[in-house]
Amino acid sequence: MNDVILAQYNEVALKLGHRSMFVGRLLQNVRASLKGLPTASVRSRSGRLVVELGSAAEEEVLRRLRVQPGLANLIPARRCRPEVEDIERTAAELIRTWRPPGSFRVDVRRADKNFPVKSPELAARIGAMAGEVTGAPVDLKSAPSVLRVIISREEAWVATSDRIEGAGGLPASTAGRVLLLLSGGIDSPVAGLRMLRRGCRLDAIHFHSAPFLDRTSQEKARRLAAVLARGQTSVRLSLIAFGEMQSEIVRTAPQPLRVVLYRRMMMRIASEVARVDFCSALVTGESLGQVASQTLANMAVIESAAGLPVLRPLVGMEKLEITRYARRNDTYRISVVPDQDCCTLFVPRHPATGARLGEVEAAERSISMDSMVEKALAERIRERIHPEWELDGRSAAAEL
Ligand code: ATP
Ligand code: MG
Repeated sequence: MNDVILAQYNEVALKLGHRSMFVGRLLQNVRASLKGLPTASVRSRSGRLVVELGSAAEEEVLRRLRVQPGLANLIPARRCRPEVEDIERTAAELIRTWRPPGSFRVDVRRADKNFPVKSPELAARIGAMAGEVTGAPVDLKSAPSVLRVIISREEAWVATSDRIEGAGGLPASTAGRVLLLLSGGIDSPVAGLRMLRRGCRLDAIHFHSAPFLDRTSQEKARRLAAVLARGQTSVRLSLIAFGEMQSEIVRTAPQPLRVVLYRRMMMRIASEVARVDFCSALVTGESLGQVASQTLANMAVIESAAGLPVLRPLVGMEKLEITRYARRNDTYRISVVPDQDCCTLFVPRHPATGARLGEVEAAERSISMDSMVEKALAERIRERIHPEWELDGRSAAAEL
């Protein structure tokens, strides 16, 4: 039985900045992600985090750690004293139930170089013992199964379980706060996940067309935010009623420009929300050429309405790649639930693919932009969305 999970982080990533700040933040994120579970403790030990399982189920702890940005890999292990006899006794216990499917090797790492036995010698001793009990052959070069021994000054760990790949990247909330424009589609949640893995802290904003359309898009935005929140404690979600603004645009602007005008309106409102909520950039799920509105010309015109940098982490990605990422990270199943997206409302048959700024600005002159932005901010609904594993069937939303 394992009693700890060793959560290893990416050394290279940490060299980017202040190591102790990164590790401190990672520790905080990991503790927050395990909230509600009867895990005993999380501590930092010689370049890794050690999660003491306590009476929590290993599977549940792994499920939560696997999505933590900044963790490179996870090793379920058994803890013992950093002494040869105790390490060998612990290895012997684990080997009793270990059945490597093919060949195996023993990998010994000493963080404490004063340890009295050299790594190859200890590996050979444990390897001989494991060979005898399991009957499996040793292959030092390419064995699929590895028995790991890691020795630090304060404690040692022995592991026969496979190493599990983590989310990688940088710990969440180490690179600043950004505001994600979150639709109910496939792309924007993936854009959020990508920025989360680059260390950003995410807020989200969703535009909906209630009462013109039903509330499914809002519920989807909440559920998607609850998946994004797995990596960062919670997500602040702003909900903006957009229907009235859309109908004003429809009333006053030429048909082909509608989509670009909707988007520019979203940029203005999002920029203002970002400003009052201290976000340093906007994030969208736009990908070059994916749909008519996402040409270079349109992107430029849309971006010029934003008051701060617009990050588009998917701009060079194929739809297939994006979809694969969405499936792997559990947002796809929510994104494909049919909904009435605000952008399907009053969409022209032939949207402009090469909008010109002059033309767009002329169309906007008859729209009362400032008062729309003001109204949107005054009426926005703010919610704090918690990670979906804390919900147990409760609604994702809690009033902020
Ligand atoms: P997605 O799959 O993210 O909806 P999409 O391929 O449907 O993207 P568009 O509809 O052109 O593309 O939207 C481009 C981007 O604009 C989205 O990725 C998202 O960031 C933002 N966006 C679109 N609709 C909304 C909305 N209702 N609320 C918030 N942001 C939105
Ligand atoms: Mg969409």
